[in-house]
Amino acid sequence: MRRKLVAGNWKMNGSLAANASLLAGLKAGLQEGSCDVAVCAPAPYLAQCQAELKGSSIAWGAQDVSVHESGAYTGEVAASMLLDFGCTYVIVGHSERRAYHGESNELVAQKTVRALAAGVTPIVCVGETLQEREAGQTDLVVGGQVDAVLEALDAAQLGRIVLAYEPVWAIGTGKTATPGMAQEVHAMLRARLSAKDAGVAQKVQILYGGSMKPDNARELLAMPDIDGGLVGGAALKAADFLAIIGAA
Ligand code: PEP
Repeated sequence: MRRKLVAGNWKMNGSLAANASLLAGLKAGLQEGSCDVAVCAPAPYLAQCQAELKGSSIAWGAQDVSVHESGAYTGEVAASMLLDFGCTYVIVGHSERRAYHGESNELVAQKTVRALAAGVTPIVCVGETLQEREAGQTDLVVGGQVDAVLEALDAAQLGRIVLAYEPVWAIGTGKTATPGMAQEVHAMLRARLSAKDAGVAQKVQILYGGSMKPDNARELLAMPDIDGGLVGGAALKAADFLAIIGAA
């Protein structure tokens, strides 16, 4: 059976003071259990996460990584630097990066490889826009996004990624995919992974993301192919994030 993972995506939110209070709340309220928990912080706060979370059962990670190993890439952050700050995870291919920074499926695949090479687990995000869903293109779009990553990985590498299905129309909008809608896409994604390696596909955690909240988490997380959540807004409030972890 796959362990569940609940990962918070803080996006470009926080401050030293706000993070300290959020992390203290999480540490105080977390019941040790059988669920993996992580927070993905803006890069400047990774050192703070490392200092505050070291020795706790909460892992930390980043929200993006450079496709390059090192060198003259002003403003970028290398995977090896994330490892230096103890990151377990890095989000790659978030829809906000794809939309605002023009990240292609191929670039996302290369970033996935770069994270794996450094020993950081990529949380690879895929998802369709509302327009694409309404045009009946969900499987085509989301399948294409995941296939680009699959082409770049062998089975052993595949076994070291986390996948996140995040319908773009559900991110930060308060609209959530119904458990049935999400399960349908998750099952399609697992079938794609199975085509590469059926055994490995059964082990890969596939998270749902998109307005996951305490009041809808339980139903979503009860679906057979939903192995956790990637949580944006609700991860900024300790009580809400803890409630989602409790549901998982
Ligand atoms: C996200 O940013 O990955 C996300 C799922 O955001 P929200 O939970 O706010 O919709």
